Amino acid sequence: MKAAPGRVLVVGGGIFGITAALELRRRGWLVTVLDPGPIPHEGASSTDVSKVVRMDYGSDRFYHELAELALEGWDRWNHDWPVPFYHEDGFLILSPTPMAPGGYEYESFEVLRARGYAPERLDANSASGRYPEWDFTRYPDGYLNTRAGWAESGAVVERLSSLCRAAGVTFLTGSMRSLMSHGSRVSGVVTTGADRIEADRVLVAAGAWTPGLVPWLSHVLWPTAHPVLHFQPDDPDAFRGSGFPPWAADISGTGWYGFPALPDGRVKVAHHGPGARARPDDRGAVSAEHEARTRDFLRYSIPALADAPVVHRRVCMYCDSFDGDLFAAADPSREGLVVASGGSGHGFKFAPALGAIFADVLEGRDNRFAFRFAWRSLGQVATEEARFTGGLSE
Ligand SMILES: Cc1cc2nc3c(=O)[nH]c(=O)nc-3n(C[C@H](O)[C@H](O)[C@H](O)COP(=O)(O)OP(=O)(O)OC[C@H]3O[C@@H](n4cnc5c(N)ncnc54)[C@H](O)[C@@H]3O)c2cc1C
Repeated sequence: MKAAPGRVLVVGGGIFGITAALELRRRGWLVTVLDPGPIPHEGASSTDVSKVVRMDYGSDRFYHELAELALEGWDRWNHDWPVPFYHEDGFLILSPTPMAPGGYEYESFEVLRARGYAPERLDANSASGRYPEWDFTRYPDGYLNTRAGWAESGAVVERLSSLCRAAGVTFLTGSMRSLMSHGSRVSGVVTTGADRIEADRVLVAAGAWTPGLVPWLSHVLWPTAHPVLHFQPDDPDAFRGSGFPPWAADISGTGWYGFPALPDGRVKVAHHGPGARARPDDRGAVSAEHEARTRDFLRYSIPALADAPVVHRRVCMYCDSFDGDLFAAADPSREGLVVASGGSGHGFKFAPALGAIFADVLEGRDNRFAFRFAWRSLGQVATEEARFTGGLSE
C-alpha cells in the first residue's frame, strides 16, 4: 500500500541522506534532516575531494546498469547546475596479468562491450606512449573506459543540501541517540541533546555510524577505516588531462586506485581493501606502514610520485555490508523505520539514482534496483560475485 506523504526525519546528511531528503521533499513529504553538521560533515565518507564514477563491475550487470542510470543523472546535474562536479576524464584499468575470463578486468571489459560501449584495450607498449607517468612493466594489459570519471563528492553534497533548503527541507543540527516508538511503530528519535523529534517515518542514513544507531544490524553492517594519501608532485600538470585519468591498478588484487591532480596540484592515492574495523569517532590516523606501502606501489607504478611529499592524510570510513551490496530497506520489525546505508566503499557514484530508490523503499513502491538492497541477513548473500566486485576486492 503506497504511503501518503507525511513527516519524515532523515538521520544523516551524507549523500544517502541528502538524496533521499530531496526526492522525498519533491514527492510532497515534510522532510527534516538531522546531522551534527555542518553539512558536508568533515567526518562523512561523502565529504571528499573526489570519488570514482564507473560502470566497471566485473560480470555484475546489476551494478553496470545502476551506474549507467547514475551516469545519465551526472550528465543531467552537470547540465542543470551552475558548476559541473562530474568530470568524465575516463577510467584507466590496469591488469597485472593478461586479462582472462573470470578476472575483474576482463569481465568488466566484456560487459561494457556487450552493453554497447567501446572500451579501448591497452597493452604496455600502446599505453606507455599515452600515459607517460606510468611504468607498465607490471601491467601488461588493461583498458580505458571513456564513459567514466570522477565527482567532487563534498561539493555535490553541498549543492544538494542547498537544493534541499530551497525545496523547503528543514535542517536540524544534532545527533540521534535512539529511536522513539509507540508499540512496534517508530515515532521519531531522541537526540544526544535529549530533544525528541517526532516523525511519521524515520530514515537512518548515518553512514559508518549506522550500525551503532541500529545495533540489531551490526551483524550485517559494520564500520571500517580506510587510509587515503595526497601527494604533492613537483609538476602537477603531468598528472592532469588525458595523460593521467582516474585509474585502478590491479584493483581486485592489491586494491590501488587514484585520481588526477586537483587544481592545487595534490594527487590522491587510495587503497580499496577490507580496511580495519573501527568506530567512526575513533578511526585513528594513517599509519607510517601504509605510507611506506603506498610509496612501494608508486615506485613500480608511478615513479615520479614515489618520493613526493605527502600533504594530506585522511582515514575515511566505509559502512561495510557483509555482501558488499548497499542496504536500503524498511525494518520488518519496526514499522516506520527505513535504513539506507552499507555503501561498502562504492556507494557515492550512484548518487543521482539513490534518492528515487530510497524514496520508493520508504513509500513501499516497486523499484527495479531495490531487491538487491533488501533487508537481509547472513546466509542471504545476493550473489558471491557481488561480494567480490561490489567492493572491488576483498
Ligand atoms: C576512502 C574511501 C573512498 C571511496 N571511494 C569511492 C569511490 O571512488 N566511488 C564511490 O562510488 N564510492 C566511494 N566511496 C564510498 C562512498 O564514499 C560512500 O558509499 C558514501 O559516501 C556513503 O554515504 P553515506 O551518506 O552513507 O555516509 P556519510 O557520507 O558518511 O554520511 C553520514 C552522515 O551521517 C551523519 N551522522 C552520523 N551519526 C549521526 C547521528 N547520530 N545523528 C545524525 N547524523 C549522524 C554524519 O555527520 C554524516 O554527515 C569511498 C569511501 C571511502 C571511505
